[in-house]
Amino acid sequence: MRPVDKGNDLGEFNPYSDAQQPLVTRLGEYCSYCERWIASGIHVEHKKPKKNYPEDQYRWSNFLLACGNCNSGKGHDKLNLDDYLWPDCDNTFRAFDYDSEGRVLPKTDYGEALNKKIKQTWIMLGLNKHPDIFTEGNQKPTVKDNRWLHRKEAWRKAEKRKQELTINDTPERRAEIVEMACERGFFSIWLTVFADDQDMKTRLFLAFPGTSTDCFDNQGAPLARQGGQL
Ligand SMILES: [Zn+2]
Repeated sequence: MRPVDKGNDLGEFNPYSDAQQPLVTRLGEYCSYCERWIASGIHVEHKKPKKNYPEDQYRWSNFLLACGNCNSGKGHDKLNLDDYLWPDCDNTFRAFDYDSEGRVLPKTDYGEALNKKIKQTWIMLGLNKHPDIFTEGNQKPTVKDNRWLHRKEAWRKAEKRKQELTINDTPERRAEIVEMACERGFFSIWLTVFADDQDMKTRLFLAFPGTSTDCFDNQGAPLARQGGQL
């Protein structure tokens, strides 16, 4: 999950839907959770659900952007923010692996408490939805939820472009590939496929608005986020 930086706190928005434009300007028109590009009607997402936390429903600090699947699947229950990982607070790129089948896999590289939070986040956001039952906690998606399929497609495209670079590697072609990535989203998939290409990683960091560059070193390797849990 792409770690993002929302910039300075813009305070309160009432109605909260007025925050959509500044969020899109700063983060791009991408779901903060599943990372796909949304053509229109991206939702202002409340980390703490507005139903149970009306006092936070207008606060910039409580906002992200989400697609319909991520937004509706997340639910409205009371939650403790620290029980989960968040793309505006943690280096969530360190939380998950992605594969060619469109799976999101929770990492288990950390201590027990952190591994548990990664798994809870994976389930809460429906990133565990995939038609193949491959690991504990994984669930089949409904017919309306094709996030996994879009991930699989993004992976295929990224692999193809990477292959093409072995034949025609020019700065112009690299710029075009990054433009393609931005048109579809799935930052983490592009970053994973181009993991051994420093130049492409830098281009991706710069091209996707609001990527938290503090979460990566100058070789593009992920770092623990200052002030975050991960
Ligand atoms: Zn989403």
